[in-house]
This record gives sequence, structure tokens and C-alpha cells, in this order.
Amino acid sequence: MPPMGGPMGRGYLTEEEKANKPKVTLPLLKRIFSYLWPYWKQLLIVLVCIIISSVLGLLPSVLTGRIIDEGLISRDLKMLIILILASLGVSFGSNLIQVAESYLNNWIAQHITFDLRNKMYGHLQKMSQGFFTSNNQGDIITRMTSDISGVERVISSTFTSILSNSITLICAVVIMYRENWILATVGVLVIPLFTIPTRLAGKTRWELTREAQECNDEINGILNETLSVSGQLLVKLFGKEKYEYNRYEKVNAKMIKLHIKESMAGRWFRVVINTFSSVGPMLIYLVGGILMMKYDANLSVGDITVLVALLGRMYGPVNSLLNMQVEWIRSMALFTRIFEYFDMPVDIENAPDAITPDKALGNVEFKNVQFSYTPERQILKDISFDLKSGNSIAIVGPSGSGKSTIINLIPRLYDVCGGEVTFDGINVKDLSLEFLRENIGIVSQETYLFNGTIRENLLYAKPDATEEELIEACKKANIYDFVKKQDKCLDAMVGNRGLKLSGGEKQRISIARILLKNPVLFIFDEATSSLDSISESKIQEAIDPIIHSRTSILIAHRLSTILAADEILVIKDGRIVERGVHSELVKAGGTYTQLYETQFGKLDDK
Ligand code: ATP
Repeated sequence: MPPMGGPMGRGYLTEEEKANKPKVTLPLLKRIFSYLWPYWKQLLIVLVCIIISSVLGLLPSVLTGRIIDEGLISRDLKMLIILILASLGVSFGSNLIQVAESYLNNWIAQHITFDLRNKMYGHLQKMSQGFFTSNNQGDIITRMTSDISGVERVISSTFTSILSNSITLICAVVIMYRENWILATVGVLVIPLFTIPTRLAGKTRWELTREAQECNDEINGILNETLSVSGQLLVKLFGKEKYEYNRYEKVNAKMIKLHIKESMAGRWFRVVINTFSSVGPMLIYLVGGILMMKYDANLSVGDITVLVALLGRMYGPVNSLLNMQVEWIRSMALFTRIFEYFDMPVDIENAPDAITPDKALGNVEFKNVQFSYTPERQILKDISFDLKSGNSIAIVGPSGSGKSTIINLIPRLYDVCGGEVTFDGINVKDLSLEFLRENIGIVSQETYLFNGTIRENLLYAKPDATEEELIEACKKANIYDFVKKQDKCLDAMVGNRGLKLSGGEKQRISIARILLKNPVLFIFDEATSSLDSISESKIQEAIDPIIHSRTSILIAHRLSTILAADEILVIKDGRIVERGVHSELVKAGGTYTQLYETQFGKLDDK
């Protein structure tokens, strides 16, 4: 019986795969080989194991002939026992070698994927923020996980199965022709009888599997959307439980139908395949019988049995090799996709002779800075300002005017497109990234906490901080009262992305984290989302002392933060339209006054 599972279901290319067939070039093959090369010794042993086990695997079929002729028909019991033991021994030996081969094979595949994973993760860590904002997170994770796991499969199964199947097939054909060329030719001619129905069955089942896969994706989509914390909240608040249940039930029912159809398609085709695959042996018995009885007295029953047995051994390898082209294209596509990531240039990295000054003061200067995320739209136009060490600047302006973009340029999350940003008088592009980022601390609009304890999140900024330092930072960030109230104090879990905490608590923990980092320059990107006035004032109390005593830049939405700064920059459409202190700006009656009045009410009312 030809094997039904395995490569059968995966033996066809999707339309998308056909359209994106990779170009297999010599450099690509060389590059793949460069990952295999460090393991050439192990690969050589695998190759030898494959050759030996493939040849040994065929021997029992050959011995069957001798068991019949020299043992059974000659009625020689001793010979019979010897041959049976030899056959069992060979089969045992072949399987034993296969175990060793598969262990080594897996070992090599795991080590190669280990190398690839580390290299890919290291490369991704170097990519700029722009890469992460413009690429889908799901795609990045798929490359890291499924694509690299795919490579593991290619090395541990595709490559070796091509090799062992080719060797088995070649050896089987050679032995068949040595036994009897007429019967061997009959055997080779009947091969399409079982390969064609098997491929047809494979195609049908593959199409059904693909449909089931799409259905499964749809189900996962619904589950991900509706069973997530925020999704459930939306469902509940809009009273959509029944609607979502019906939607889920409908896809679930479709899935069941597909599964039944899929398993039945397999059954029907099995009937056809089984019938066709018994035609081959019967033909050999028939032609062999005629030859033996009428034309060739030397042809024995054993010889005919050997040919039938060898034909049976050819089913699997022929089917697998027919799928080889598809497997090959897929494997090359996997490698191409992975290499595409490796080849993406790291656009923000240390200059070859990057400077690392001994000490940082925190002076920042923007000189005619231009910036755009995409060529079509310029975001910052000619921004110039100067922040002296110890001072503070508040940046205000309408939403989308480019405030966050300005601060992102200082630690080089993005690089300027024109003009320059200097830190302590040196162009940030000439400073080492480690120095720059060590001396700048940003509390961003969206506070990100890792799933872990409060302590773990704080230690991220300073791994060797003492208990006293942690408590001190919490006190300064105005979060210590909250921490004390937790059952486990600093060891309380913050939940996935800090979801167990309120917005204000998360912000104060992130302020504590920045205080532990103790950078020279503090940057606060105040969240626009409104917090209640108690949370607001707690945050204000935490950042006020920092504004007064440290070099800081504040993207400010709250009046008290604005008033605390030494200078206010008003940004509109990517330009600085006004600058000065509060009283001057209010008097000028321009953009600042408008902003002020929309946010805090008419000036005359005050
Ligand atoms: P808000 O006060 O609402 O936070 P903002 O003044 O800080 O706004 P920025 O975040 O600097 O504004 O964004 C300025 C403009 O740049 C916006 O129009 C925004 O849509 C665009 N922008 C921001 N980030 C990107 C990005 N990664 N790719 C493309 N455009 C972006």
C-alpha cells in the first residue's frame, strides 16, 4: 500500500507560492551551504549512514527470494534458519543505523536553527525604530519562529529524505534488472499506476486541508479578538455576546463539515489506490509465471518474489521524490525569506569611530532640523533650539504637530533628514549609541511594563539597585504608597503589559524606573489621555522636582508642567511658531494663546 500521509498533503504549491517562486542562484546555494559547512563532519557521517541503511533496507527483500528457493523449495531447514536470521539481522542493523542517523540529523538541524535564530534576533535588535513601526509585528515574529522552524524541517527531513529515497530507488532498480530485465521493465512500467491515483488523492485532500486551514484561521481570529481583555470589554459593553456566539458557531459548523469531507475523501481514494497498487504485483506474477513456465527454466519462484517485494519497496520513495520539486521550492523560499531579513541594512548604528565622552552634561541643540518618516510628507521643518544643561524646555502644540518626533531624534530612534542634533556639542551621529542612550531617559506616552513584578520592571533600569534605592525611587515617583498596599509590595505582579495597574500607576512606575536609570537628560512625553485629577497631581508631584533640578524636555499638556519649564516652544505643522515664557506668549496672542484657551478656558475668565 503506498503511504497516504506525509508529503502527500503538502505536495502542491499554492497560487501565492507559485507567484513568489524564489530564484535559485549559485550565491543562494552557497549561502545556504555556509550554514551547513560548520557541521560538515556530522553531515558526512549522516551521508554514510543513509547509504548503508538504504542498501541494508533492501536486503531483506532480496533475501526473501533465497528463503523461498534455497530454504522452502529445497526443503533445507538449516539454510532456512540461517537466511531468516540473516534477514532479521540485516533489518535490525538497518533500523539501528537509522536511529543513529536521525539523532545526528536532528542534532545538526537544531544547531543550524540555533545559529539562525540567534543571528536573526541579534540583527532585529539592531534595527531602527522605523523598522518596527513600518513592519507588521506578526510578520516579524513569523520569521523568527515558523520560518526558522521550517528550516529545521528542511534540514532534518527534506534533504535526507531526497537522499535516502534516491539511493533506495536506484539500488532497487539495479537489483531488479540484475534479477530479470523483462520483469524489471514490467515493474518500472506499472509505477504510474499507483503514482497517478496517489497524486490525485493528494491534490483533493490538500485542497480540503487548505480550506480547513482558512476556516481555522478565521476561528482563531474570532477567538483572539473576542477573548482578549479589551475585546471582551467591547463585546460586553456593546452587548454583542449573542452575535459573537452565532458568528463563532457558524464557522465552527463549517469546520466540522470540512473535516468530515476531508477524511472521507481519503477513504474513497484509498479504495482506488489499493486496487491499483495490487495490479503491479499481479502483473509481475503473471508475466513471471508465463516466463518461468514457457521460456525461462532458470527463473525461480524466489526471483519473482524478490521482484514483487522490491516493487513494493519503491512506492514510498517514488511518491516522495515526486513531491521533491515542491519541497525544494518551499525550502528555497524559506531560506530566501530569512536571508531577506539578514540583508536589511541596519540604518542606525554606531559610526566606525564613534565617540564616548567621559562625562555627559546634557546640553542639546537642534540646528535647522528637517525630518520625514516617508518621502511624501515632511514632518519637521527647520527646527532649531538650544537646551542648556540644568534647564528645562516645554514643547507644546496641537496633536500631530511633531512633538514626539522631535524628542525621538535625540536618542537616535530616528535620524534627521537635514540639519543636525547635537548632544554636548557633538553631533549625535558621531556619539556612541550606548553613551547616548545611557544618558537620556524617556518616559513615553505609552508606558510599557513587562509581564513580571514591580521589582523586575524597576530593576530593568538598574539591575544592581539595592532595596533602599528601589524604595527611594518609588517614593520620589509618588508610587510608594501604592506599592506598600500590595500584598507582596515590590514583588506584586503587574500583569500582561502592566494591565493590572491603572494608567496613572503605570506612569508613576515608569517614572520610578527612569529615576533609577538616573540619566543626565530627562524627557517626558506627557500622555494626552486624561487621567483623573488625583492621578494627575500625583504624577505632577513626581515630575516637578525633576523639572526644577535636572535638564529636561517635556511634551506638555498640563498647565503646571508648562509653567514649570524655563522656556516654551510652540510647534505647529512641524515648525516652531512661537517661543518664550508663559507670560510673553500669552501676551503675544498667537497659537499659544489659542491652545491655552481651548485647553484651559478663555484667558479673560481666569
Ligand atoms: P500627539 O500630541 O498627538 O502625541 P505629536 O505632536 O507628538 O502628537 P508626532 O507623534 O510627532 O505628533 O507625529 C507627527 C506626525 O508624524 C503625525 O502626523 C503622525 O501621523 C506622523 N507619524 C508619527 N509616527 C510616524 C511613523 N512611524 N511613520 C509615519 N508617520 C508617523
